[in-house]
Amino acid sequence: MASVDPPSNSDPDDDPPRHPRNPFSENPLANDVSQAPQNTPQQAELFETEPPPWELTIADDIATAKIVFSEAPYGPYDYRIPEEYRDLVKPGMRVSVPLGHRRKKMIGWCIETQLGPTKRSGKLRDIIEVLDEEPLCDAHLVRLVSWISHYYQTPTGQVFDTLIPSSVRANAGTRERTYLTPCKQKSDDKSIEALPAKQQAAFRFLIAAGRPMTASELMVHAECTRGPINALQSKGYVEVAVRREMTTAMPMRWQKDDGENQQIHTLSNEQVSALEKIDAAIDSGEARTLLLHGVTGSGKTEVYIKAIEHVVRFGRSAIVMVPEISLTPQTRGRFERRFEGVAVLHSQMTPAERHYQWQRIRRGEVQVVVGPRSAVFAPLPHLGLIVIDEEHDASFKQDTQPRYHARKVAHARAMSLGIPLILGSATPSMESWHATATGHAELITMKDRIYQRPMPNVELVDLRIRDDRTRGAISRPLHQAVQDTLNENGQVILLLNRRGFATTIQCPSCGHVVSCPDCDMPLTHHRDGGKAVCHYCDYTIATPPWCPACRFDGIRYGGLGTQKLEVEVKARFPSAKIARMDSDTMRRPGSHQRVLAAFRSGELNILLGTQMIAKGLDFPNVLLVGVINADSALHFPDFRAAERTFQLVTQVAGRTGRGERGGRVVVQTFTPEHPAIQAASRHDYLQFATDEMVSRRKFNYPPLGSVARIIIRGTVEEVTEAVADSLLGRLEAARLALGVEVRLLGPAPPPITKLRGKYRFHILLQATDAAVLGATIRRATDSFTIPEKDDVQYVVDIDPMDML
Ligand code: ADP
Ligand code: ZN
Repeated sequence: MASVDPPSNSDPDDDPPRHPRNPFSENPLANDVSQAPQNTPQQAELFETEPPPWELTIADDIATAKIVFSEAPYGPYDYRIPEEYRDLVKPGMRVSVPLGHRRKKMIGWCIETQLGPTKRSGKLRDIIEVLDEEPLCDAHLVRLVSWISHYYQTPTGQVFDTLIPSSVRANAGTRERTYLTPCKQKSDDKSIEALPAKQQAAFRFLIAAGRPMTASELMVHAECTRGPINALQSKGYVEVAVRREMTTAMPMRWQKDDGENQQIHTLSNEQVSALEKIDAAIDSGEARTLLLHGVTGSGKTEVYIKAIEHVVRFGRSAIVMVPEISLTPQTRGRFERRFEGVAVLHSQMTPAERHYQWQRIRRGEVQVVVGPRSAVFAPLPHLGLIVIDEEHDASFKQDTQPRYHARKVAHARAMSLGIPLILGSATPSMESWHATATGHAELITMKDRIYQRPMPNVELVDLRIRDDRTRGAISRPLHQAVQDTLNENGQVILLLNRRGFATTIQCPSCGHVVSCPDCDMPLTHHRDGGKAVCHYCDYTIATPPWCPACRFDGIRYGGLGTQKLEVEVKARFPSAKIARMDSDTMRRPGSHQRVLAAFRSGELNILLGTQMIAKGLDFPNVLLVGVINADSALHFPDFRAAERTFQLVTQVAGRTGRGERGGRVVVQTFTPEHPAIQAASRHDYLQFATDEMVSRRKFNYPPLGSVARIIIRGTVEEVTEAVADSLLGRLEAARLALGVEVRLLGPAPPPITKLRGKYRFHILLQATDAAVLGATIRRATDSFTIPEKDDVQYVVDIDPMDML
């Protein structure tokens, strides 16, 4: 598993099918039933029937609640709050309500309560039950939910389901226990003496205990049976309270770090001045965004920690978001050594653990929450600071609904709380970089490594030069560099970015490539078990021994994957100890931690893997980093291809030269002259950003303009395309009606034209302003219905991070 949240790029369409009608108008909260268009079957069902006579018909002094659902119809709908729940129902709570003319009981989220008549108060139905004792999110988070719902065009109920983990909604790892306490009025001697002996004994015991006890506890301690206790209960001697409790106590630090040994440092001059600026922002009590651009190894983490210490001193708390699980053991260690209450969130927690941590966080027992993108929702009561480390990382964007970007959400949360947001990176995203130019963020630069250690020397190997090529993936210069490093007892990191999709199975005789019947993508050969797997839909077959097209029986497993690279590296360096890190080898909980601990201890000589090894790791004895194919991300149909390539090469190069012995980097590429690779080889972010901004400006691509993408998918290709065409027509009409400038591209087949048996098309929208794009899409889809027989759905992706 590459990232802590479900991995990005795992499945670009993994959304629940979208309800064919967009449930939102401009104001997500203004959409009560009376205004909702009534042209969907579900809606019609709701309103065509007159309300039954037993429903309430009072007009004033009525309390109502707006309720939303995570499934269609999404609401919001108004309900009456019955008298007994008046003081109980609050926004952020779940309630059970009747829905549809079959009055199906549904669980919904309350987003607003109101006293006094509403338009439809005469016909309102009652809330049946209130499911939470307290709101699962405070008023401020409810507002954030509304904002996410509006901006990302996702039903509010679905946003709630994302914000509140399912383990919390299901009360994972808890049970209800009934506690008994002695009734005060019956605790006098006279009342007690009126009891039979056994009841008296039990009752006296309960009084003496001085704390609530369960019946079974009392039975054990008072050495009685259930009978006397029941009698006490029915006579009103004991009061009964039901409490929900965790079934097991969780140890606070249940996972170890990776054995990094760290002291508290004296800050470098650059760190001191960075910290002064951040502390000033914290003290200002204003919402400010600061971009900490610090080269790899400049000590950004120490700056975050010191800033958080400053926040914690005033009784407040902080969220630190990090991208990859490979970062977590080390980061966890660094934070846990420095703060009392740290909650680390990650994907390998059990539901009970997740629920436990969530409750600790909400009770205010935690000062620092460290986690992946979903940590942006951590319900800390006194949040004072949000930090996003490696803010450029693509895993901060969720690729299922709601397709939110944690940076954007963090910004919204920080703005509404009036607290600073710190973005840290050695290779800032173009978005954040641009924000510093427009005055939306303050730039803080740390241009030197700790102890003024030099940046590693980067050597480019041109793979077009025959003399340097070998039969395998490792060129002669890289082989020599690995050998030299091993001879010096140094460690090596080899990066193979598999986004090249190159582990194809190709027939050398007829050229046939074995592909997935559902996705039309080349299958990837896996040596373990001789399987051929589709990396989009997981279609798996035994690797065919001969060509399925021409029956030639010398089929070749072309291309290159990490498994094949591992075999080659083992053959080239037989005495070296090697470990591979990719999503296949890192499935089991704790596997990252084990491999990284072994690498840190020096047990391993070579660590090879996918981009998961490129980020954040800090190992002083890594003297060489080799990049097997720097171009693999470069030839992608995506305007961020150059940015990705620059980030990847710079970040992986940053894994070396962190100790006293220096370090070097060998980058293999077919296009050494490419500006992104050139800039990366010189560690020159400024040059890269300047060049890149010029080419973004040419096409008005982000960050200069905004982009949205609508993916349309369906089982019949022509029907799907026809729906895409009609959606395009509506977008054109909406653009005209609103009088706005929006560039519309498509519909076109995206790079993945077929996924899990469905044909795909996409429409791209571009405009200078995100609000204009949002308004256009909302208007175009507001009453857009697709006949059910067409079996076509669409997904809106605002600020998409990939175009697959
Ligand atoms: P970055 O995230 O900027 O790449 P890190 O935060 O990983 O850098 O820091 C790099 C290394 O420098 C770490 O081993 C860290 O413990 C160490 N370090 C940080 N600050 C100092 C300091 N002031 N003095 C000495 N070492 C430091
Ligand atoms: Zn497939």
